[in-house]
Amino acid sequence: MLLTKETLLGKSLEELTEWVQQQGQPAYRGKQLHQWLYQKGARSLEEISVFPKIWREQLIDYPVGRSTINYRTIAPDATRKYLLSLQDGLIIEAVGIPTAKRLTVCVSSQVGCPMACNFCATGKGGYDRNLKAYEIVDQVLTVQEDFQRRVSHVVFMGMGEPLLNLDEVVAAVKILNQDVGIGQRSLTISTVGLPQKIIQLANYHLQVTFAVSLHASNQTLREKLIPSAVHYPLEQLLEDCRNYVEITRRRVTFEYILLGGLNDLPHHAIELANHLRGFQSHVNLIPYNPIDEADYQRPNQQQIQTFMDVLQQHKVAASIRYSRGLEANAACGQLRFSHS
Ligand code: SAH
Repeated sequence: MLLTKETLLGKSLEELTEWVQQQGQPAYRGKQLHQWLYQKGARSLEEISVFPKIWREQLIDYPVGRSTINYRTIAPDATRKYLLSLQDGLIIEAVGIPTAKRLTVCVSSQVGCPMACNFCATGKGGYDRNLKAYEIVDQVLTVQEDFQRRVSHVVFMGMGEPLLNLDEVVAAVKILNQDVGIGQRSLTISTVGLPQKIIQLANYHLQVTFAVSLHASNQTLREKLIPSAVHYPLEQLLEDCRNYVEITRRRVTFEYILLGGLNDLPHHAIELANHLRGFQSHVNLIPYNPIDEADYQRPNQQQIQTFMDVLQQHKVAASIRYSRGLEANAACGQLRFSHS
């Protein structure tokens, strides 16, 4: 009987050890395999030079679980955007964002996204399927290899809604932490918010940074921007976030895209501050990155600064996040399987 071959990437040290033993190899080869997969980024078993040659030749076609780089663009600010081909031929995007001290990878959690937020290019392109944990980990290893530098941070802010793929996202967090060696606090899960899911995530008691894409200071406005908000009243979302803090003892980051004239006026800042008063949270203001299918405006510098000042006057911690990679369509909201 032919058993379906499971990819090796995604397996723990124990599982890899079991696998090598099933292949008639000594247990210590499991540790070697683990190191070559997660530390050296091996793409095939053939290249694992510490393995006996005859065995390697037998395993030449064994699926490791790595994607291939289909296309790569480098923005003037050194941000790199990748289109990666998965084993079934579908394509996802990942972004590598270098600074002097950090190398951050923005990973996708789904192929496309079903949420269809009005301001986001990914949502305009449709949805295919959830990613497996190993396909998320692969994105990090790919960027690490391409930059020839250790990845220090991972943000689940690429294509997809992580909480629609919670099990695989949590599995990926554990692998990135335990097997690749990235601290949980250097991993960020970002969500638009889904009923029940925030509490489910909280109950995993992860040490990750948790970010919620809020984008509006009241329910009516939020529904205009985010179709799924109809099923999740703002009050309930904020209540779940408070419970998240309670359960995990970790603060929540709120992301707020500034859309000129729409949600960026001083009275919106006051309304937002009223919701967040006394809440252990931080607001990340993201000036809108233009996409072709929507005609929202990016506010000017003065409007952005005023919005932040009003929040701070109302004792809400806030900062402005300027997206990187804008020129290569690699910035927040611009990921959409395109070569430009
Ligand atoms: N689905 C998750 C993960 C995607 S994160 C979430 O919604 O949080 C992508 C981040 O970029 C989110 O905060 C998203 O709202 C923001 N974003 C989407 N489109 C954008 C745009 N055109 N300009 C700036 N930020 C955008």
